Amino acid sequence: MASNTVRAGTVLPVAAARWAMWAFVIVNAAIVEGLFLSAGSGKNDVLTVAKFFGLQAALLMLFQLLLVARLPWLDRRIGMDRLTVWHRWVGFTLLWTVLTHATLVVLGFAILDDTSMAKTFVALSGVPASLLGMGAAATILVIGVVSSRPLRRRLRYEVWHGLHTLLYVALGLAFVHQLLETTTFTSSAFARAYWWFLWLFAFGALLTGRVVMPLWRNAYHRFRVAAVVPESGDVVSVYVTGRHLDKLPAQAGQFCIWRFPGHQHWWLANPFSLSAAPGGMGLRLTAKAVGDTSAGLRELPVGSRVFVEGPYGAFTSLHRSRPGALLIAGGVGITPVRAMLEEQATGDTVVLYRVRSEADAVLLDEVRHLVALRGGRLHLLTGRTGEGGAPPPFGPDSLHRLVPDVTERDVYVCGPPAMTAAVLAGLRALRVPARQVHAEKFGMA
Ligand SMILES: Cc1cc2nc3c(=O)[nH]c(=O)nc-3n(C[C@H](O)[C@H](O)[C@H](O)COP(=O)(O)OP(=O)(O)OC[C@H]3O[C@@H](n4cnc5c(N)ncnc54)[C@H](O)[C@@H]3O)c2cc1C
Repeated sequence: MASNTVRAGTVLPVAAARWAMWAFVIVNAAIVEGLFLSAGSGKNDVLTVAKFFGLQAALLMLFQLLLVARLPWLDRRIGMDRLTVWHRWVGFTLLWTVLTHATLVVLGFAILDDTSMAKTFVALSGVPASLLGMGAAATILVIGVVSSRPLRRRLRYEVWHGLHTLLYVALGLAFVHQLLETTTFTSSAFARAYWWFLWLFAFGALLTGRVVMPLWRNAYHRFRVAAVVPESGDVVSVYVTGRHLDKLPAQAGQFCIWRFPGHQHWWLANPFSLSAAPGGMGLRLTAKAVGDTSAGLRELPVGSRVFVEGPYGAFTSLHRSRPGALLIAGGVGITPVRAMLEEQATGDTVVLYRVRSEADAVLLDEVRHLVALRGGRLHLLTGRTGEGGAPPPFGPDSLHRLVPDVTERDVYVCGPPAMTAAVLAGLRALRVPARQVHAEKFGMA
């Protein structure tokens, strides 16, 4: 871990990836605006503005594809959690852009034909190209509604995720709609080549990251359950073996999305961090029972197939910028921290491990052993926040008392959302530079 420390003055991996994303957006936005200006105006001013919004919507759709393509270069630098947050905001921007485009098209034609918007809407729905566009807009609206926080919280993860994949249907409809409808798409040989290239690039990235790479990796490594070891009454470790595991580009701190076809339906997939540093010998996950999948892992038959997507995530030593590290874990959030400790050859490391009681501290013996081996320091922080009038363990005062040189360290945090938020607030109050703070959330969207 310490060997990866970024030297002062070098561009951080996350900054490089952000710049690459911004460059992609700015360059393509400039080309699209140029195409819009050169393609000429619509049949009236409203239709010209409608066309403008349609082009921005097309660009946003392509950007959405890249954000969910799970491209390793981006994922390792930015992290799936942050990419998912961007995806959410781009998604809502896309929704409003599409609705504005659709409304202006109907209004523009209503003005042109001197009729009502309702009559124009009915007339346009008889035109195949417009109908496809309406289908795409309606699908995006459905996805937007189910992704709004109140509804998202009420839906089972799998139901929400299933509805969310309708995005691909919307993109397919929108693509054909653009081919049939738009003049900008075909306004010149350059415009045609540009749009085709962009769509092929975005779909190619998606197919590569979401389909080809996982299928290839599973065919190559042929993952299987090697052992199932209960760690406590509600926590279990699953050891996974496979072929050529030394070639799997995994790093301690990362997670995979796991499917256990022998245990549950193939469409169920759950993220679990690697709880041991990945190596040629095998992979390990450690899961706390909170629902059907995690509770059922105990019953996994040894030798059964495992389908693994990943490894993913930016919670790794790639982002180290200081020689010293502070690793903070809450409950089962210890899993990636435990793996990182193992990977760390040398270096000055402090671990804060927050649990209700020592009996709840998952993998505690392993953590103690690794910390001792590396010459680090472990503070087991037991209790419940607010209990017995004790000060909050991750307030600025407590953090500073436990780790006086906290501002000089890279800080890695993984735990329940409330604890993570408290730690991040404490670190901000202590003015720990943001570039030194790395958090992993055990929740995707
Ligand atoms: C990056 C990451 C790493 C994680 N690492 C660990 C770990 O090392 N150990 C551990 O015990 N837990 C980990 N989790 C949490 C773990 O994924 C969930 O507890 C598990 O998926 C719950 O599934 P379930 O069927 O047992 O319970 P359910 O009752 O089905 O789900 C409980 C909650 O888990 C979330 N969840 C369920 N399925 C998924 C999914 N496919 N993707 C995202 N969230 C989902 C939902 O918010 C749901 O409300 C991690 C989560 C993430 C996002």
